[in-house]
Amino acid sequence: MRTDVIIVGAGAAGLLAAVAARRLGHEVLVVEADAAVGGTTATTDGALWLPANDLMGRGGIPSDSPDDALRYLNALATPESPVFAARRAAFVRTAAALGRWLSTSKIALEVIRSLPDCRPDADGAAAQGRSVRVRPVAAKLDEQWLGRVRGADPAKSRPGLLARLASPFRHPGLLSGGAALVSELLRRALGSGVELWLEAPLVGLQVDGGTVTGVTVQRDGQRVEVQAARGVMLACGGFEGDQSLRQEHLPLPTSSAWSVGLGAEGAALAAGAQVDAAVAGLDQAWWTPVLLADGVAHKVDAARVAPHSLIVDQAGDRYLNEAQPSVLAGRRMYEHNRGMRSVPSFLILDSRHRKAYPLGPWAAGTSPKAAIESDELVRAGSLDELAQTLGVDRAGLIGSVVAFNQLAKRGKDTDFGRGDSAWDRYFGDPLLRRNPSLGAVNKAPFWAVRLYPGDSGTKGGLVIDERSRVLRADGTAVPGLWACSASAESVFGPAQPAQGAGLAAALVEAYRGVLDLSGQLDRIDEVLG
Ligand SMILES: Cc1cc2nc3c(=O)[nH]c(=O)nc-3n(C[C@H](O)[C@H](O)[C@H](O)COP(=O)(O)OP(=O)(O)OC[C@H]3O[C@@H](n4cnc5c(N)ncnc54)[C@H](O)[C@@H]3O)c2cc1C
Repeated sequence: MRTDVIIVGAGAAGLLAAVAARRLGHEVLVVEADAAVGGTTATTDGALWLPANDLMGRGGIPSDSPDDALRYLNALATPESPVFAARRAAFVRTAAALGRWLSTSKIALEVIRSLPDCRPDADGAAAQGRSVRVRPVAAKLDEQWLGRVRGADPAKSRPGLLARLASPFRHPGLLSGGAALVSELLRRALGSGVELWLEAPLVGLQVDGGTVTGVTVQRDGQRVEVQAARGVMLACGGFEGDQSLRQEHLPLPTSSAWSVGLGAEGAALAAGAQVDAAVAGLDQAWWTPVLLADGVAHKVDAARVAPHSLIVDQAGDRYLNEAQPSVLAGRRMYEHNRGMRSVPSFLILDSRHRKAYPLGPWAAGTSPKAAIESDELVRAGSLDELAQTLGVDRAGLIGSVVAFNQLAKRGKDTDFGRGDSAWDRYFGDPLLRRNPSLGAVNKAPFWAVRLYPGDSGTKGGLVIDERSRVLRADGTAVPGLWACSASAESVFGPAQPAQGAGLAAALVEAYRGVLDLSGQLDRIDEVLG
């Protein structure tokens, strides 16, 4: 079989690459391992970090420039190789153009109001406006395809007239976030003649004299070879779901059960190995502290930022700003674990927290019986009892809580700076005026969960250049092969610039790769300046 372009993976990056390649006149085949479309993307909030996007500079949102964004990225701890410098510059130059591409494709974006970059005090940071998302949309896919978008419920995705009349402003039943982005891209892909094979995992690349000429996929129990006249784009995620790759590359201890990612198993790494592609950053992930409920990992972003909570290690000592961005918090858990035992750590809450804020899968105000019985959620009448049940040093825990409560009373965390940055305050409780993320932990009963350094996907992968071409160790490009998103090393290195940075980089890399394989990238870069 023959086509022009083969895209491996039908998340947002793969679908955007497919639509863009089709518009440039190519025949396109997307091969997807799963029975559903949308990958991780469809299950997320779908935030996109697009510096200098067209919504900035209007409606009270400050204006922005790619240069400011580049200064900001340079201020974060990102790797300093020339390839990285070129990739960062290409990202900030292309991000706004990608926003325009989505808008002219009638995929409308809206600013996530008041959400700052993760490091609001760094040079070039923006107070708001760079993080955007796709506006909620009515699902316009036919029933059969809508049922195949991961996370979309066809029964709930078509607002009836009554629902719309009842709540015209709240968009009942509309698709939102990543599911909206995926369904809109899928509709355009199918409408423009992109061929999409589900349950067709990549088995390997076809290689001829060092040039990638196609792929082998498993389909209907058979191996099928497909040739690609223009090239192959890997958009099939990282390796968070493969325990042996985790143990080989990520800091220890590690477990695929701690990942809230899709569970990608390193297909891109295996494909890259066939053509001696270079790999980098394999010890990094999009870290995020997680709790386990029924053995399944859940983020605790809202719970750890909300007041009336603190995190301690196994000696009962507080050791981090609980409200910091997730990648920094997760990495800190590992760093601290080198000296003190902090895997797992403990998130300690008082009764006000449990009444007012959700905790992983458990809604505010609930006492989930099964979780309490299985000891995944611990409840105790006193801190003494809590320490004993958790096996934490009693004096350490009580001392930490007493010290924490004094800081909370003053509204200033002089130990770890919780609530100092606009980022911490954005996610705190606005009802606490002095410090939205700091409140005493002193009302029984007390609660606790074990926290693990989980992830929402890996960050290392194939080395690519600013054209998304896969590179060998000597810096030369592998002809016929492009990669993007978690299949490649993150353009941000270990850093977390902002909410939506991962997905934005995924789409920018997919877009630039398709322009490159079409011979259009230089022309576009000239226009972008
Ligand atoms: C809980 C959570 C929340 C997140 N929130 C955000 C956010 O708000 N903003 C943000 O920027 N990022 C967020 N992220 C990260 C973000 O989801 C990813 O950066 C983004 O989805 C990557 O898109 P993608 O298309 O590359 O990957 P995916 O959407 O994961 O798609 C990859 C596809 O490849 C397929 N695949 C895997 N192996 C094979 C194979 N062998 N053959 C064929 N196909 C294969 C998979 O089945 C999948 O469909 C979040 C992640 C998680 C887990």
